[in-house]
Amino acid sequence: IGGVKNICCVGAGYVGGPTAAVMAFQNPHLNVTVVDRDPGRIAQWKTKHVPIYEPGLYEILRIARDGSRASSFINEPSRADSLDSMSNVSSSSSECESQCGEHADEIYISGRVPNLFFSTDISKTISEADIVLIAVNTPTKLRGLGAGRATDVTALEAVAREVAIHAKPGAIVVEKSTVPCRTADIIQDTLKIHRPNLAFEVLSNPEFLAAGTAINDLLHPDRVLIGSSNTPAGHLAAATLASVYVSWVPRHKIITTNIWSSELSKLVANSMLAQRISSINSISAICEKTGADIDEVAKSIGLDPRIGNKFLRAGLGFGGSCFKKDILSLVYLAESLGLDEVAEYWQQVVTINEFQRARFVRRVVKCLNGTLVGKKLTILGYAFKKDTNDTRESPALDSIKGLIEDAPSEIAVYDPCCIPSVVKQEIGRLLGKEVLKENGGPVEVYADAYRACHKAHAILIMTECDEFKNTRISSPNLHPTQKLSSRMKSDPRPFQRLEPTGSEILALHSYLTRTVSMADALQWFEENPECKPGCKACAEEG
Ligand code: NAD
Repeated sequence: IGGVKNICCVGAGYVGGPTAAVMAFQNPHLNVTVVDRDPGRIAQWKTKHVPIYEPGLYEILRIARDGSRASSFINEPSRADSLDSMSNVSSSSSECESQCGEHADEIYISGRVPNLFFSTDISKTISEADIVLIAVNTPTKLRGLGAGRATDVTALEAVAREVAIHAKPGAIVVEKSTVPCRTADIIQDTLKIHRPNLAFEVLSNPEFLAAGTAINDLLHPDRVLIGSSNTPAGHLAAATLASVYVSWVPRHKIITTNIWSSELSKLVANSMLAQRISSINSISAICEKTGADIDEVAKSIGLDPRIGNKFLRAGLGFGGSCFKKDILSLVYLAESLGLDEVAEYWQQVVTINEFQRARFVRRVVKCLNGTLVGKKLTILGYAFKKDTNDTRESPALDSIKGLIEDAPSEIAVYDPCCIPSVVKQEIGRLLGKEVLKENGGPVEVYADAYRACHKAHAILIMTECDEFKNTRISSPNLHPTQKLSSRMKSDPRPFQRLEPTGSEILALHSYLTRTVSMADALQWFEENPECKPGCKACAEEG
């Protein structure tokens, strides 16, 4: 167990990068090297501008990758304890105070030797590793048997081959990727074909981090799950991997199971979380037709400890690279096992998610008098949720696709975590280049929320970014009348809810800082006679 010196993580993505970084950060005595077949991605990981956005990630990299000091974000009690236990922590906050005055809450780590590396030399790194973590992508298959539901394990298979050829005898191979149940057999078979005289242990160690909170999830996991074969060698391998986690994870949170339970648990965890979202969203549709308020219903039921209040916010449904593909993988597994009723049950979770997204687009069009012609819509939040630049399965993209059908004059897109050129490229790739403004289409991507919202007829808040909650759209350019702009300035509630779905429409017209029904709007016009339906300014605004 004590023999681990080198860890190789194959796959420098949303899971591989942060996981390897935290492992290296918490185990200064180990070398952790992340490899990827994409040289561009590896090059980015070596710079300040790493390819993924995760709060806290850069601070971890500065220590493990660059060997420099920890900044204040880590200075919370649990982290401070953990840092203190490292032999090379050299100064306390008071010492720091005497050094730098205003940075009294920073912790300095002197002489920390970098132990996190990024490389494209996959075979060499694998050949030196005692543990190989496989963290490559496992998307839904697009063609062939099981297309649209089964998991595409092509990347994982390719890595298994590399590992089989290059791994040193006794190296432990770990599935970090989310995989269909019994995938460890594929890896084991591949290892046997290439190295028939050697025995390797394959473990399942699924990752439960969530995008946007990955670093916190990795530093303080609810549990670490390790599945192994039920043999002495399997148990020894599991204990060896556990010894890496034990540097920072309490032992009682490290759970060992048989390997198939571990593989299946990850699919079930994601499916159950998604199921809660679809359940509450299905109720939101009933609320809208009955006058019940979905937030009140969610609160009332969430207070029951048997139900709990997490994952009960109605909204646009789940997005991201994992939930949909993992439910579909479960559906496919059930079908393959001849369990059609079970497959149908889980399929409904995806169906409700799609229903919810389509319903939102229909509501937007309805709110805008059934036509988007000549209107500008602003989409705030393009990533699939706040605090991430991961745009896979983003509800925003689906909405853009639906809204385009009604021919708006502009769809302005803004996300504080995404690079506009990357978003533009992605929309062009997925919806066709002709939808972009530069090619005569309606979609424009902005680097500034105010510019994106300027003269918008409706602002659709797609994610809960703090920036959207705290920003007031009060530019005097939004509407010509002084009175309106002063009204906006005095309104402390810029983003009020309109949609009981939890999806928010800020304004029917950009100069109203709250969402209103048409009746309310007419009444407001009554009270503000200089601006009536049909007034010149409004006519100019369309
Ligand atoms: P990703 O697409 O961000 O990263 C995967 C990386 O693997 C890419 O950089 C790719 O270039 C690399 N890769 C693919 N094939 C390779 C090969 N043969 N050799 C070397 N590198 C190769 O994916 P991700 O989001 O990090 O997800 C990885 C796995 O973790 C998936 O199975 C996913 O389901 C699971 N997971 C993801 C999350 C999440 O929030 N993203 C959370 C938990 C689990």
